[in-house]
Amino acid sequence: MKLLEERILAEGMAENEDVLKVDGFLNHQVDPVLMEEIAKDFALHFKSQGITKIVTIESSGIAPALLTAKEMGIPLIIMKKQPSRVLYNDLFQTVVASFTKETSYELTMSKKFLTDEDHVLIIDDFLAYGESAAGAIRLVRMSGATVAGVGILIEKVFQAGRDKVKENGVPVYSQVKIKKLSGGKIEIEE
Ligand code: 5GP
Repeated sequence: MKLLEERILAEGMAENEDVLKVDGFLNHQVDPVLMEEIAKDFALHFKSQGITKIVTIESSGIAPALLTAKEMGIPLIIMKKQPSRVLYNDLFQTVVASFTKETSYELTMSKKFLTDEDHVLIIDDFLAYGESAAGAIRLVRMSGATVAGVGILIEKVFQAGRDKVKENGVPVYSQVKIKKLSGGKIEIEE
């Protein structure tokens, strides 16, 4: 997606060889006009697939996922991250290793909002090693719903996230693919 690519090149910061910072328009300050264009692109890509609901993980996926839900005329469900290991009867829960691999968290979703009649699109900001996306797929499937695909704004292709999602039999669509981060330079895959 050209617009997002241009924005990453203009304002993104390669913090090191692993992490891209996009605080100026996505992760801290959010550009609503860019989010609207991102939403239109997702809606176009995933149209005619019978998608009934969008799911995202708090918090950075919420802005693009909400606008995509509006564009597609369907509800958005926000999965929550919780540190506790307490079991709740009214929640689906799964443990997810975080991007840094140094910690893990409990991803939860109420049992109220998805049924086996739902066909779900998962949207998240970044795809790195795919642990978050795989966790979201597990939670959706616990409800009996099916997963149509994973929509990602920024995929870092040098980390193995796409393979992890594909192992789960789910297609990935990413709007921008980052080939490499090195010496403060951001290389985009065409
Ligand atoms: P994964 O589970 O695919 O390893 O990591 C995905 C999650 O980690 C994303 O939801 C995002 O919050 C965070 N993340 C991964 N890589 C980056 C990155 O380069 N920059 C930022 N800002 N967040 C990232």
